[in-house]
Amino acid sequence: MNSNAPLPGPVRVRFAPSPTGYPHAGNLRTALYNWLFARHCGGRFILRIEDTDRERTLPDAEPYLKEALRWLGLDWDEGPEVGGPAGPYRQSERLDIYHRLADELIARGAAYRCYCPRERLEAVRAARRAANLHPYGYDRHCRAWSEAERQERAAAGAPFVVRFAIPLAGETGWEDAIRGYITYSNRELDDHVLLKSDGYPTYQFANVVDDHLMGITHVIRAEEWVPSTPRHLLEYQAFGWEPPVFAHLSLITEPGGKKLSKRLGARPILDYREEGYLPEALVNFLALLGWSPGGNREIMAPAELIELFSLEGIVPHPSTFDLEKLDWINGVYIRKLRPADLLERALPFLQRAGLVHTLPTESERELAARSLPLVQDRLRRLGEAPELAEFFFRDPPEYDPRAVQKWLDPIEARAILVRTRDAFRRLDQWNEATVEEAVRRVAAELEMRAADVIHPTRVAATGRTEGPGLFETLAVLGKERTLARIEDALRRFVPGG
Ligand code: GLU
Repeated sequence: MNSNAPLPGPVRVRFAPSPTGYPHAGNLRTALYNWLFARHCGGRFILRIEDTDRERTLPDAEPYLKEALRWLGLDWDEGPEVGGPAGPYRQSERLDIYHRLADELIARGAAYRCYCPRERLEAVRAARRAANLHPYGYDRHCRAWSEAERQERAAAGAPFVVRFAIPLAGETGWEDAIRGYITYSNRELDDHVLLKSDGYPTYQFANVVDDHLMGITHVIRAEEWVPSTPRHLLEYQAFGWEPPVFAHLSLITEPGGKKLSKRLGARPILDYREEGYLPEALVNFLALLGWSPGGNREIMAPAELIELFSLEGIVPHPSTFDLEKLDWINGVYIRKLRPADLLERALPFLQRAGLVHTLPTESERELAARSLPLVQDRLRRLGEAPELAEFFFRDPPEYDPRAVQKWLDPIEARAILVRTRDAFRRLDQWNEATVEEAVRRVAAELEMRAADVIHPTRVAATGRTEGPGLFETLAVLGKERTLARIEDALRRFVPGG
């Protein structure tokens, strides 16, 4: 496979989440790699909801998941909502298909009904474990029955599951597109369940049936499914179906090799939106969690990722979820935002912090439009915008006591502020250049360095010692508000006069 040349024949890949929880970075990396592969090859990206575990299915998990995919820009060509020729795309709506195909496997002798009650299964498992008999699972009790015995059970209407009859000898292996050849001895596998007693299929069955019926050509999924793959391949064999290519992604860990935690890598992905990560930055970050285009390229927009993506570029070793790196990438993307875009994206954060109204007034919008570019360089997350830009919106600003003590207490502070105020008052034109000129003039008159005037003026006008350049800050703040703040600071903090 040449990495950049489209594969022959239409590629069809899928993302097949189980709606039992809120998807995190690991889940979305899988979705992203499938999407990138489909887009790179001009194939189809299919969304399939694997909701066969009725007890664990959460009603809001599917909407959450779709919201996350949409936010990240991972559009699906077939699936819930958009439909498609291989639907329905929700497994709970395909039960008749699984039943029909389970019957077919029974008829072929590749599956059988098992009537063992739960207590028996548990006892068998415990006993096999104690005796160290592999595999620990089911002992194939019902597999050995004669047809007459089977009929008898069926007639009695006893509840049953359908199990797959694993071949008793031989090996099952495949050439994994990421990990090379992997093989399992069939003796390691017990007869897994295909249909549960509630009539729902297991993952092991529905996943294979759907991958086949949906024409999936490449299964790109997490490492945790490696041990299930021999079971899947044996099912393909039993049906006489051609299996897809399998590509198992490697693990994502946290720094130090730790398992992803709810606090970081396993956080529900939309939490990152709440904090002001840009979807294109997160996509870039997720793409690099286990894939590399070669060289040192790190910043790649979605279109470039699509162009460069290949299965060969996926690394077989674990990758680390490094928040520092995400913050860095996000900062790079924030700095690239054009002013109008920055405004639209950051405004919701100002709204949530109460700095502007939910429906911002014209002047609030204008203030946001002018102040946000001044803090843009320092933002790593849009969620930091309220803290960095707060002093533009709140009158009076919040005064940092240490800044006040350092710059407004000293004996010369009064003279500096009074002169600066007076010089500002006299300005007919209020902009960066005129403000700068006024400040420098005051410094010259007082025989001081410009910095000696700039610091106290900044503290009086913004409450803090740090921030964007003073002249541009005051230009945005406006003459009236600047003067009012200096007056106020003089009254409150600078004794005498
Ligand atoms: N439903 C499985 C999951 O949630 C799909 C695994 C697969 O892609 O085969 O991860």
